[in-house]
Amino acid sequence: MTAHVSVKEDEFLLTGFLSRQRAAFLSDGPPSAAQRRADLLKLKTALQKRRTAFEAAVSKDFGYRSAYETRIMEVTPVIQTINYLRRNLTKWMRPERRRVAIHFRPGRARVVYQPLGVVGIISPWNYPLSLALTPLATAIAAGNRAILKPSELTPATSELLKSMLREIFPEEQVAVVTGGPEIGTAFSRLPFDHLVFTGSTNVGRSVMKEAAENLVPVTLELGGKSPALLGPDADIDAAAVSVAYGKLANAGQTCIAPDYVLVHEKDAAAFVASYDATALKFYPQGAADRNYTSIVNAKHESRIQKLVDDAKEKGAKIIEVANGGAGTRKLAPVIVLNVTDDMAIMQQEIFGPALPVMTYRTIDEAIGYINRKPRPLALYYFGHNSDDRQKVLTRTTSGNVTINDTLMHYVQDDLPFGGVGMSGMGAYHGIEGFKSLSHAKGVFEQSKWNLARILHPPFNKTTDMV
Ligand code: NAD
Repeated sequence: MTAHVSVKEDEFLLTGFLSRQRAAFLSDGPPSAAQRRADLLKLKTALQKRRTAFEAAVSKDFGYRSAYETRIMEVTPVIQTINYLRRNLTKWMRPERRRVAIHFRPGRARVVYQPLGVVGIISPWNYPLSLALTPLATAIAAGNRAILKPSELTPATSELLKSMLREIFPEEQVAVVTGGPEIGTAFSRLPFDHLVFTGSTNVGRSVMKEAAENLVPVTLELGGKSPALLGPDADIDAAAVSVAYGKLANAGQTCIAPDYVLVHEKDAAAFVASYDATALKFYPQGAADRNYTSIVNAKHESRIQKLVDDAKEKGAKIIEVANGGAGTRKLAPVIVLNVTDDMAIMQQEIFGPALPVMTYRTIDEAIGYINRKPRPLALYYFGHNSDDRQKVLTRTTSGNVTINDTLMHYVQDDLPFGGVGMSGMGAYHGIEGFKSLSHAKGVFEQSKWNLARILHPPFNKTTDMV
C-alpha cells in the first residue's frame, strides 16, 4: 500500500517536472552555445568533485566493483564526452546552407538545428553513471531540458546522481525521478519531445509502444548477442586478450561485450588455452580478485548460472577459466564448448562472464550463422586478410564494428553509437547524437525578386515553359 502511494506521488512529481520544464523552455527560448558549454562544464566539475563517491556508490550497488574499473569505464569516458561536446557544439549549431534550384533563386535555403524541448532519459544499471550522464550531456549540448529515470537496481548511484543534478541544475532544466518498472511505464507515457531508452530489448519494445500513443520519437539503445568472429588468419593470442578484456570487464555485464566467439576449427584449442591464460593474468585470484566485479544481484547471478547449467545438461562442456571466488556474487568466468542453438545460452543475451566458443570451417559459414540471428549491437572481427574483412563488413549488419579489438568503438567520440533491428534504433555520440536530439528545421527564405510568381495563376503560355 505504501509503495502504491509513493508511485502515485512520483508520477505526480514527474508530470509536474515535464510541464514546468516545457513552460520554461517556451519562455526562455533555446540556450546559447555559451550557456550550453557552461552547463556542461558545471556537470563535468560536479562529477570530478564526486568521483570517489560515485566509485564507492557503484561498488556498493554491485556488491563489489573496483574503483579503477568505474573510473576507466564510466567516469573518464563521460568527462571525455563532455569535453568533446563542448569543443564541437558551436560548429554543430551553425545553420547549414543548402542548394536552391536555379528557378527558385535568389531565394535561399538553410537547415537550422533547434532543440527539441524536453527529453526523457531512462537508463540501466550496468554502467549506471555513464549511461545516465552521456545521454544527458548530449541533450544539454543540443539545448534541451531533460528528466532522467535511472535504474532502481543501483539505488546508491541513482541517489547520488539525483543529489548532484539537483545541486547544479534547477528542476526546470534537469530533474531526476527514481523508481522501478511502474515509474518507467508512467515515464514512457509522458508526451516528451524525445525519449532515450537504454536497456533490454523487451522493455524497449514496451517503452516504444507507450511512447507511440503520443507519437514521441524514441532512441532505443538495446542489447543482444554480439559475436566475436576470429578470421582464419587471426592472431589468436591477441584476439584472446581482446575478447577476455571485453568479456570480463564488469564481469560480462556490458551491452557490447562479446557474447560468443566464432573461431576457425583449426584454432579452437589455441584460443581456449590463450583465453584461459589471459583470464588468469588479468585476475590472478580468479573471481575473488580485487579487479573482478560482482554480479549486480542474486536474480541475475542465478539467471547466468541457469544458462550455464542448461547448456551443460544439453551436452555442452564447461571450462572454468578462473576460480569462482569468495565474496559477494563473484561468478567464475567460464568457457562453454559444444554449444547448440537449442540451448538458452545461444538464444538469450548472456550478460555475464560465460563465453560460448563455436567453430566454423569457412568464413561464409560464420557469416551465415551471424545472419540467422537478430542483428547485433556490436560485431568484433579479428584478422588481417582484407577480402575476408571486407566480406564480413559488407555482409553483416550490426550497430557498430570494432576490428582487431573489442569495445573500442564505444569510446570513439566522433562515431555514432547505437543498434540496428532488435539491438536498437537511433544513435548517440558524435554529431549523430546532437542531430538526433535536435530538430533539423528546413527554412526557405524568399527573395524580394520572387521569380516563383510565374507559377501563380492565371496560367498561360509562360507557365507551359516551366
Ligand atoms: P531493463 O530494460 O530491465 O531496464 C532499463 C531501465 O528501464 C531501468 O531504468 C528500468 O527501471 C526501466 N524499466 C523497467 N521496466 C520498464 C517498463 N516496463 N517501462 C519503462 N521502463 C522500464 O535493462 P537493464 O537490466 O537495466 O539493463 C540490461 C540491458 O540493457 C541489457 O539487455 C543490455 O544489453 C542493455 N544495455 C544496452 C546498452 C546500449 O547502449 N545499447 C547499454 C547498456 C545496457
